[in-house]
Amino acid sequence: MRVGIIRCMQTEDHCPGTADFKAVRDRKGAFGEAPEGESIEIVGFCNCGGCPGKKAVFRARKLVDAGADTIAFASCIQKGTPIGYPCPFGKKMQEVVSKNIGDGIKILSYTHESPAEK
Ligand code: SF4
Repeated sequence: MRVGIIRCMQTEDHCPGTADFKAVRDRKGAFGEAPEGESIEIVGFCNCGGCPGKKAVFRARKLVDAGADTIAFASCIQKGTPIGYPCPFGKKMQEVVSKNIGDGIKILSYTHESPAEK
């Protein structure tokens, strides 16, 4: 799996993304779906571009151009971690990104369990 991760720009101020990287490293959360033996590589990590998240479409395309076969929306978006405040635009953002990047790219709607994978 070659994954591009998109996170909430609002959350970036107080979260360095540690739980996302840990979930990839430990093959936990959404990354537990990766077939055994398949490596997981992060090809890019960026934010949504700010509310209402329209820039996520262009950023997802960039990640795909960079080689991502999977786009993961970090848990801060639809799970609202770490403060329990999900993005009001999260579902729409995922829907539009998914439509734009096409069927060949897998979408993960979260990265780690809330608040963080143990
Ligand atoms: S659109 Fe959603 S994910 Fe992006 S900054 Fe705003 S609240 Fe965060």
